[in-house]
Amino acid sequence: MLKPWWETWPNRLEYELKALEAAGITIEDQQRDGYRLILTLRAQVDGTDVRLIARFPDLYPFTRFEVFAPDLSLNRHQNPHLKNLCLVPLGDYWEISDTLASYLSKQLPRVFTAATSEDPNEVAELEVHQGEPVSHYYACLPNAIILLNSEWGLGKALSGELLIRGYFDATGFVRATVTEVGSDDGTVLFRQQPLLISPSEDAIHGRWIAIEKNIAHYTPDEFADELFAMHPELRQIEGTKLPKGARIDVIGVVFPEELTWRHLGQGWVFLVRVQRKDRSISKFLVRAGRAGESDLRKRIPELWPLQYKTIAIVGTGCLGAPSCIELARAGAKELRLLDGDFVEPGTIVRWPLGFAIAGRNKVEALSYFIKANYPWTGVSANVHRIGLSFPNSPSDIESLQSLLDGVHLLYDATAELDLQRMLSDVAKSVGVHYVGVSSTPGGWGERVIRIAAENDACRACLDYHIADGAVPVPVSSPHGMTEAPGCNAPTFTAANFDTSEVALMGVRVATSTLCAGEHEAYAEYKSDVSILKLRDDHGGLIPPDWKGFPLSRHPQCQNH
Ligand SMILES: [Zn+2]
Repeated sequence: MLKPWWETWPNRLEYELKALEAAGITIEDQQRDGYRLILTLRAQVDGTDVRLIARFPDLYPFTRFEVFAPDLSLNRHQNPHLKNLCLVPLGDYWEISDTLASYLSKQLPRVFTAATSEDPNEVAELEVHQGEPVSHYYACLPNAIILLNSEWGLGKALSGELLIRGYFDATGFVRATVTEVGSDDGTVLFRQQPLLISPSEDAIHGRWIAIEKNIAHYTPDEFADELFAMHPELRQIEGTKLPKGARIDVIGVVFPEELTWRHLGQGWVFLVRVQRKDRSISKFLVRAGRAGESDLRKRIPELWPLQYKTIAIVGTGCLGAPSCIELARAGAKELRLLDGDFVEPGTIVRWPLGFAIAGRNKVEALSYFIKANYPWTGVSANVHRIGLSFPNSPSDIESLQSLLDGVHLLYDATAELDLQRMLSDVAKSVGVHYVGVSSTPGGWGERVIRIAAENDACRACLDYHIADGAVPVPVSSPHGMTEAPGCNAPTFTAANFDTSEVALMGVRVATSTLCAGEHEAYAEYKSDVSILKLRDDHGGLIPPDWKGFPLSRHPQCQNH
């Protein structure tokens, strides 16, 4: 049975209390609330007497305490509503050996100095360099969000109109995108595509207002009262009609907010009001989601060249499908998918999406998923099976020509040797980079072949290098093939977590190739052929062991 921490470690509690006493901090009250310990304290900070409430969590000291100063209102380092102090920054700053007394003695005076200073030089040493966005504190409706774009600078405009597209209903629930921001004179300041897929394309006509200081109250009713006291003209419900005589009114409230350390930007929160037929009004706060391209790229700065790159992916099985999603996640400009196959339920053990898309064409299921989740990446689905010559089967050459028109890289995940040979030749003849991925039966070994557009070697050269023993063949399981019931060809056995290794490496190699020579971009990769070993000679599991080899033109190759 799990016990409260002070029963598990009685010495720890005694030690904490003695340390507080030694630090001159008075313990006025001590309470136990279930598995939590609550201390009411009095401390002297800069000659001021401060009342503090320390709450120890259930799993102390593995997780840290929270200290509240209910009588204080600091500009920074204090939650304006709940009043807890930022004594321990989020992240890994807390050590199990730290005590409440040591934190209060050391951090409390620093918090006071940092909170009351406007001089970044004075506080640079005192505080962690992270922004404290006040919008995080508002009591927003769970699961609701309205997306906007951090690139929108409103300049001198102080109010205007909004067009919001997506899902909304009479419960105040909204999942939508601000698709237009207008000024008071009707000029459209910013426009963007809807970023959330919604069953309807309904729109709310809303308003926005810029205020000088953020609203101090954090519940929807108090927030609205404070806003309308400043701007009585917003009190009147306008907005958009809903079924059954209801009406939804959305006001985007824009205020100065610290977005990064000591740097003010535009904070947003949305006040949503629903007026029913009986005139009763419910109010909600809905959080703003920063969803612009630059918002997404912030965490992946080295991948910036991908926003200008179009990639054709042929084959969307267990290697191609995760590669597509990874490339979309990395921010590729456009993906063109080609595959003629559909999702057999039995294959979802080795596919990124599950039963929800059983029976759908693979490329259509993937492209829907990418549109829904990575809307800044363009995607097209080409349902086509290569190699057919029936009277009504579309031409391979025409399909490949339109697929490859204007692309920068051909990503080959067909996992068939003859198709790999053909596609590497096609890439060469149209002058684009080629990256091919494959796995062996059992998923014991995997291979990524890169033939950069400027490399004069070809796929056949690789076979000569393999015959020479200069490049090894990936290991495979002797029992790695199986016949699945109802499947028209034998398939290989392998776990998705093994085959995923080659998809990740393939995307890494493709990204590196597309970023080559660009400033502050993803690192250069010098090897053209990468071979992965996941098993030793006896089939024992080993840590993923990648080896890289160059691919140069082979003197015996007839293709040159
Ligand atoms: Zn060659």
